[in-house]
Amino acid sequence: MLTPEEIHTIVLDFDGVFTDNKVWIDAEGREFVRCDRADGLAIDLLRVARRRGWLVAEIFILSTEANPVVRARADKLGLACHQAVGDKLAFLEHHLSERFPSEDDPFEGVVFLGNDLNDLPVLRRVGWSVAPSDAHPLVLEAVDTVLAEQGGESFVRGFVERMLGVGRMSGEEVDELVSDR
Ligand SMILES: [Mg+2]
Repeated sequence: MLTPEEIHTIVLDFDGVFTDNKVWIDAEGREFVRCDRADGLAIDLLRVARRRGWLVAEIFILSTEANPVVRARADKLGLACHQAVGDKLAFLEHHLSERFPSEDDPFEGVVFLGNDLNDLPVLRRVGWSVAPSDAHPLVLEAVDTVLAEQGGESFVRGFVERMLGVGRMSGEEVDELVSDR
């Protein structure tokens, strides 16, 4: 686990993280997914934390899928989004080397939330890897932290509250944080 000050990048997979990893498809081939509004509030809390200087991290969604639903959800949440990324590790290596050209191991300051086998190379590499409780068994074995929540069932919310220490805040502090959105 990293403290908010130690984190410079928060990367979130989409399917199985913001969703329950299921997809509905209609007769025209249009895809639908179900997201959790509790995770939307979590992203708001991240923004408050950034505004208050508790957190300076860049935050974005990184998805293998190229799907309009990912973009639509990212836009709604106000999150940057990189889609159709086949090799997430190669993408991050390139991205981090551009952002932190002089750092020996920029992966140390990265948190990655992922659930499936295609996330393993990144999950093994980052400073703090986090998975939902319904992730693939090999992912559950590989990550630093497994949360009780499942993908699409407040998993992102669980991560954000844990990272920001919401559980240790007083009722007044929580009210104030939430109303500051
Ligand atoms: Mg996934």
